[in-house]
Amino acid sequence: MVERACRVCGHVTEGKKCEVCGSEDLSTKWKGMIEVIDPEHSKVAVDLKITKPGKYALLVE
Ligand SMILES: [Zn+2]
Repeated sequence: MVERACRVCGHVTEGKKCEVCGSEDLSTKWKGMIEVIDPEHSKVAVDLKITKPGKYALLVE
């Protein structure tokens, strides 16, 4: 299964649609990934404006 990253919010998904923001603008070209488990208490998540748990790409082309 190819993992794609959402160009809108950076969420990494195996589906055809981003489960976080609902966008279908997904890219197969992305770099770096963080897994957010508790967005409200993660500094990285706050810095990246991530509000929902999941896997996120750091850079989406
Ligand atoms: Zn998204």
